[in-house]
Amino acid sequence: LPAKITPREDGRADLTGLSQLEIRDIFSAAGQDEKQAKLRSKQVFHWLYHRGVTDFAEMTDLGKQLRSWMDERFVVGRPEIVEAHVSNDGTRKWLLRSADGQDYEMVFIPDADRGTLCISSQVGCTLNCRFCHTGTMRLVRNLTPGEIVGQVMLARDALGEWPKGAMDALEENESVTSYESDGRLLTNIVLMGMGEPLYNFENVRDAMKVVMDSSGLALSRRRITLSTSGVVPMIARVGEEINVNLAISLHAVNKETRDEIVPLNRKYSIEELLQACADYPGASNSRRITFEYVMLKDKNDSDQDARELVNLLRQYDLPAKVNLIPFNPWPGSDYECSEPERIKAFSKIIFDAGISAPVRTPRGRDIMAACGQLKSASEKKSRAELDRLAEEKQAALG
Ligand code: SAH
Ligand code: SF4
Repeated sequence: LPAKITPREDGRADLTGLSQLEIRDIFSAAGQDEKQAKLRSKQVFHWLYHRGVTDFAEMTDLGKQLRSWMDERFVVGRPEIVEAHVSNDGTRKWLLRSADGQDYEMVFIPDADRGTLCISSQVGCTLNCRFCHTGTMRLVRNLTPGEIVGQVMLARDALGEWPKGAMDALEENESVTSYESDGRLLTNIVLMGMGEPLYNFENVRDAMKVVMDSSGLALSRRRITLSTSGVVPMIARVGEEINVNLAISLHAVNKETRDEIVPLNRKYSIEELLQACADYPGASNSRRITFEYVMLKDKNDSDQDARELVNLLRQYDLPAKVNLIPFNPWPGSDYECSEPERIKAFSKIIFDAGISAPVRTPRGRDIMAACGQLKSASEKKSRAELDRLAEEKQAALG
């Protein structure tokens, strides 16, 4: 069995997140010959990711004996739902729990023409961007491919988006490859939930490969966006190995400010980051790199900052679009959101230079589901909080 499966109390292994090859290895290891193992893995993969079936009994083209053999050893799992919230703007947030009791969040943002699922890659985050709620958590652990794919599966369940009907009928009437996400509620995935996806790249990559597999969920790489705070050495691999859309959390245009608000900048400079973007193979005028820029009052929102942003994007000749994100506050945050007029002026300078710079409408703020507001109870106390508590205790004793 692949090592990256979170153990369950009942001892069975969760198949969710496994590739067709990994499923084939299970059958091979159980003694099936190559041809059999290949056929079975194809069938199981289809049931899992095309049909969303979680009960082996429903996998009717597998022999009865094989089905019960599987049922004894495996499950087709989903993350446990601990809480589900619906915002007054229709945004939904789920607090999920892994088999070993770690909590993480997932958000669904419905729009008129699309539905975006925002998924987490880690429980907590090693980085601590000053404006981000998740950044006040420590990293608890990386999510496994199964837990990352599991979020997409769960969203499909919740939205009722699995094809119905018999397998035979399905295979006669629709080709698997023609399975499209258009017209569906869930059309896009963004890796913008909890965690830094490039500090868990291999699991994220394996999960996205399963999500993109044309005989399963079949989501196009053009509908998947990976957001990074700037882990420069990993960016080329994103292009080579999954080639999804890239979003960069830039947030500042000079060293001093970026060092302060995105501390990873002390390790990888703005220049190195923009060079890695310029080298990104997936970028073109029809597939631009998104530069995210959180609007923080009197911190990074001057006309001068906007002009410098334009200069930088031109200097590196980047096929870019800028996404201005009004700062979403959370309990204890140090910053304020820029005034709407300021954001407009900032946006206009960039637009006037010929670069698209829409302002992202905050979604789900009332349920703490907006960008940067996610934080779970897992390891709720950060290092700073623990230090402060220790000091208080000391003071009380002294
Ligand atoms: N770790 C990744 C992806 C998760 S965050 C990254 O940093 O890119 C998704 C986006 O929300 C990032 O651009 C992040 O900087 C931004 N963000 C974080 N906290 C925010 C806040 N309080 N208000 C608005 N945007 C925020
Ligand atoms: Fe981590 Fe991204 Fe939040 Fe920074 S903005 S602390 S990288 S989740």
